Amino acid sequence: MDYLPVFLDLRQRLTVVVGGGAVALRKVDMLLRAGARVRVVAPTLHPELALHRDAGRIESCSSVFEPEQLVGAALAIAATDQREVNHAVAAAGAARGILVNVVDDGSASSCIMPAIVDRSPIIVAIGSSGQSPTLVRRIRTQLEALLPARLGDLARLAGRARERVQRALPQIDQRRRFWDQLFAGSIASKVFAGQELEAEALLDAQLGQATAPPRGEVYLIGAGPGDPDLLTLRALQLLQQSDVVLYDRLVSAAVLDRVRRDAECVYVGKESGKHRVTQQRIEALLLEYAGRGLRVARLKGGDPFIFGRGGEEIDALAAAGIPVIVVPGITAALGAAASAGLPLTQRGFAQSVTLVTAQGEGAETLDWRALAAPGQTVVFYMGISQLPRIVGHLLAHGAPRSRPVAVIERATLPDQRVLPGTLEDIVERAQAAGAEAPALLMVGEVAGRAARPASWVMSLGVGNG
Ligand code: SAH
Repeated sequence: MDYLPVFLDLRQRLTVVVGGGAVALRKVDMLLRAGARVRVVAPTLHPELALHRDAGRIESCSSVFEPEQLVGAALAIAATDQREVNHAVAAAGAARGILVNVVDDGSASSCIMPAIVDRSPIIVAIGSSGQSPTLVRRIRTQLEALLPARLGDLARLAGRARERVQRALPQIDQRRRFWDQLFAGSIASKVFAGQELEAEALLDAQLGQATAPPRGEVYLIGAGPGDPDLLTLRALQLLQQSDVVLYDRLVSAAVLDRVRRDAECVYVGKESGKHRVTQQRIEALLLEYAGRGLRVARLKGGDPFIFGRGGEEIDALAAAGIPVIVVPGITAALGAAASAGLPLTQRGFAQSVTLVTAQGEGAETLDWRALAAPGQTVVFYMGISQLPRIVGHLLAHGAPRSRPVAVIERATLPDQRVLPGTLEDIVERAQAAGAEAPALLMVGEVAGRAARPASWVMSLGVGNG
């Protein structure tokens, strides 16, 4: 280990920043966030540093650097663009036993500044001992995505409850179990979802019965259209803490890859040739697993509340008193529109969007005249075998044969296909191309863009290997 990571308490301590440019400004802002007193030494100041000075937030010495300016400082940062000045600061600091960081020059520094992920009071510091700042930035980005935005709230909640927990649970292993369950369970999920009052109440309740078995809960999660990078951060976090995952046919293998390794994955979709697991059976399974105190993810393609029967499932869980967290997903229409480069609304072409399911008997009772009207985009979620029927209804209710349409198959997946056409020829084209489920039909002028050369669409990064 080349460096010892430490967190410095700089509140009310003097710190000195030598330099008055943009780099110095960044360092000053950081030091102010840490509550330090900041003295800036520079002949001229960046306008924002001048604002800090005028507001009395910093002390400024508008002169060249003199070693005496470091007297009494806990930390100095050399942030000028002149090597000799930076080295003079380092030498002066060394002579007085003051920690000095020279920006971008680890070898001249007695301490280096880590990259940070700030979820105060949780702070993650990352460093590579100067070997690769780019790698550090990458790790930071990964951690930013991994750590919930409200992690700090959770830490504060734990801080507030600490003494209460200590009093209620005198044994250390009892307390450890309590905290472990708290951070992995519904209290944490509630904090992350912004329901802090409920979390606080639940904490008190759980503390009251800390010896009782844990309560199960269900996460109703939209898995998006297939590309795992289109999962929300919250979906990813909950998938990482689920004990059991019940998933549908439309959930891609790449998405399942993001589930916690030791979670039990249960398929509840239709298998070719076999019957679908009935909705009642799925609801019974959810109740059974949650009833055993497990954290159950119910993972659905797209969004759970768009043609996903999510409403029925939350009703069944609510009736049984099981807590549910719903996480929205990118519905197939939005994923397909983005990855095929077809805007669902566009000035002058489409003022509204309608998402329709043409599956089942309900299709006959749809308002086909309204769906056939111009000036809009209509997206049909459909079994591909419904295509001729949908086209027939639209034509019968006044849509012109020339109306542009597109069939988008396996949207956002590496083998996505976009078949452009018109109401006149799409049935034939889809058949010739051997189009298969899952597929959407997009109807309206904006679908006409699919007929343009689409090479640029590839650069959107469709695909996930
Ligand atoms: N809840 C889902 C929809 C479920 S209904 C959502 O919000 O997307 C199933 C229909 O969704 C399929 O028949 C198909 O029309 C559509 N669909 C789902 N995923 C798709 C994909 N990757 N590409 C094209 N259509 C898709």
